[in-house]
Amino acid sequence: MSQRPNLSHGRGYLAIPGPSIMPEAVLQAMHRPAPNIYAGELVDMMPGIMADLKRVARTEHFAAIYIGNGHAAWEAALSNVIAPGERVLVPATGRFGHGFGEMATGIGAEVQLIDFGKASPMDLDVIAAALAEDKDHEIKAVLAVHVDTSSSVVNDIKGLRDVLDAVGHPALLMVDCIASLGCDRFEMDAWGVDVMVTGCQKGLMVPPGCSFVFFNPRAQAVREAMPRVSVYWDWTPRSTATEFWQYFNGTAPTHHLYGLRVALDMIHDEGIEQVWARHGVLARAIWAACDAWGAGSELRMNIADPANRSTAVTSLRLGGNDGTRLRDWVEAELGLTLGIGLGMAEVGDPARDAFFRLGHMGHVNGQMIMGLLGGMQAGMSALGIPYGRGALDAAADVIAGGAVEGLSAPLFNKVDDAVDSPTCCGNSN
Ligand SMILES: *Cc1c(COP(=O)(O)O)cnc(C)c1O
Repeated sequence: MSQRPNLSHGRGYLAIPGPSIMPEAVLQAMHRPAPNIYAGELVDMMPGIMADLKRVARTEHFAAIYIGNGHAAWEAALSNVIAPGERVLVPATGRFGHGFGEMATGIGAEVQLIDFGKASPMDLDVIAAALAEDKDHEIKAVLAVHVDTSSSVVNDIKGLRDVLDAVGHPALLMVDCIASLGCDRFEMDAWGVDVMVTGCQKGLMVPPGCSFVFFNPRAQAVREAMPRVSVYWDWTPRSTATEFWQYFNGTAPTHHLYGLRVALDMIHDEGIEQVWARHGVLARAIWAACDAWGAGSELRMNIADPANRSTAVTSLRLGGNDGTRLRDWVEAELGLTLGIGLGMAEVGDPARDAFFRLGHMGHVNGQMIMGLLGGMQAGMSALGIPYGRGALDAAADVIAGGAVEGLSAPLFNKVDDAVDSPTCCGNSN
């Protein structure tokens, strides 16, 4: 009896929801000797990088860069506008909503948590009621997560702004776009977002190590009224830098900037609308496969309603410990790495082994997604995990028809031509 050889040799595929796959061009741009940080190319690149970051964020206002991960951006953003003892409202729709809230607790804020569970988007009516109850406007900010990477839900950020306006509540709208930026449609200015945080290692396709805080004049006015902001987290010098070191409050993340420059060029060359559309079609191919597999089996997507699913990440479950078995098999046998389930069951709870996630953010294309799905199906076959038939056909059909179909994004993701102009950023930096 002949044994199938191991099929993991060849280019691996890291399909976890961050860090995402890095384009060769980004890696090549980073492969260089240490550059001069006092004059020359890198220094000259900076205004363009700031302007292009704002284009991706769809804002004409301010941006600050931090050497840090997404958690650093959370702390940086909060530190500029929330003083100890002040209240924030946290509508959590997964692990990362709680994380944003925990960061606020850590800087001394009083956190009012509304937990929408692990498989649903924010309920805007519930948030409206909480805001309406706050007659004295003690809530200084609402901390929302656009795409919660644990549950893979996408939240209606524009709808949240409408709620704040309808209630007449002045709280800042602060949004975590760490998973979604450069994947799911996000329109900072058009949606009335005051503060947005993101990282470089997901949709922006750069190795972990930089994060970004975007803010508007409303948020800056709140910043100016703060009793004290730590020198390091202060976004003011970073966003109005006149000398290179001020962007980073010290030495620049030199090689990240070279990688970021190329990544931003790639996004703008493709076009941000096209980037969103690509993620939309690829995600729909994954969902179509999951629907087919799930017929007559235990495979389920975490978010039932497609309108509430992110196009950057898909959170799934199988029966028993089959999620972990499948992850282990495709990694060892095919060189395909799937994401662990996060926040769905406690550490140590055997139920954790049912859950897993697919990262499909950033530098991903049609053949990669078909390979991902084919690899998953091979794994289920090899392991004797039951699955419904026709999944790969269904996915291929979505990809084949992607140019005309599959772009029907949720209502709040609708294309708005009015905000389509990429000509922002008279570069206040
Ligand atoms: C990845 C992620 C974070 C955390 O970012 P780190 O870089 O790991 O600190 C926070 N929020 C969301 C939505 C994320 O996807």
